[in-house]
Amino acid sequence: MFTIAARQMGYRVHTFSPDSDTPTGQVADAEVTASYDDLDAVRAFAKGVDVVTFEFENVPAPTAAACAEYAPVRPGGDVLHTTQHRLREKTFLSNNGFPVTPFRVVQSVEDVQAASREIGPAGVIKTAAFGYDGKGQSKVTTLAEAEKAIAGDPNVERVFEALVDFDREVSIVAARGVDGSFAHWGVIDNDHRNHILDLSVAPSNLPTAVAKEAVDIARGVLDGLNVVGVLCVEFFYTKRGKLLVNELAPRPHNSGHLTIDACVTSQFEQQLRAVCGLRLGSTQYHRPAAMAQLLGDVWTGREPRWDRALAMPNVKLHLYGKHEAKPGRKMGHLTAMADTAEEAAKLVLAARGAI
Ligand code: AMP
Repeated sequence: MFTIAARQMGYRVHTFSPDSDTPTGQVADAEVTASYDDLDAVRAFAKGVDVVTFEFENVPAPTAAACAEYAPVRPGGDVLHTTQHRLREKTFLSNNGFPVTPFRVVQSVEDVQAASREIGPAGVIKTAAFGYDGKGQSKVTTLAEAEKAIAGDPNVERVFEALVDFDREVSIVAARGVDGSFAHWGVIDNDHRNHILDLSVAPSNLPTAVAKEAVDIARGVLDGLNVVGVLCVEFFYTKRGKLLVNELAPRPHNSGHLTIDACVTSQFEQQLRAVCGLRLGSTQYHRPAAMAQLLGDVWTGREPRWDRALAMPNVKLHLYGKHEAKPGRKMGHLTAMADTAEEAAKLVLAARGAI
């Protein structure tokens, strides 16, 4: 989606990935297939481009550093370093006064017992590194479950987070330019299923003062990390009316996919503008919108009935070009537009139901 936005504006895109025939590679001008650890290949790649950006944050720090020898890397490798590790991310957030879920680092049974006493026993245990979409996460309700969750591999660094009794989850997708300029798409409401984003709806009807606080936090995070590019701040909005930052994604985010069809400037075009040093574009919405994820689960032994969704006016289909539809794998999404956010949500769910 980034590459499509970039090519639409006349840019050429080279992509580097350990896989071949990737969704990006299918629309890029050149696709390099090599390991992130192959720093000679990384350097050769970086020599051939004017600027480097990432589509996910788990790129190793030495890879980003090797790129930076030859081209500006936006956002910088330090942003990846902070956000690819839950503990570093939470430490950055709490040290800078941003509200976060109570958490403890847990590596041993003793740590788990202490965490359970202090902030548990109900919580979510998450691996500190390489976690997304609920990978490496266990929800626990008792000390015994918590002990079980870390058994087997006690040396893995983990975070024990208090279970948040949230009213809803929301996000702010925002962008920061090379000159420090800032843009955002307002509060987006998000529903997760099995820890994976399922439905996003915008604009949110969160109270105005809370929405302003969310935007202020997002701006503080982008400024604090000196981000150039798009970054998403995911929040819990608790039943007591408090915002807590759950995580940061230093890139265009699932919850911002609806901006492709619903806004003057999509999150992908904004990423392009930011990393190429252009002025940021308007984030105005044409209409309220909702996005429903299409996971591999939708392929129940046959190709889904796309025709049924496409027969609905104001519904748009996006498929990513991934070859194999596995359960839980994000294969595409649907976006619906309507006069209200509520109607858009109903329409997009009806479309997904119909396929
Ligand atoms: P994460 O990978 O941390 O974004 O977690 C994925 C999803 O799991 C979140 O969007 C929530 O729906 C759920 N989740 C994660 N951590 C917590 C928590 N501490 N309390 C309640 N739900 C959580």
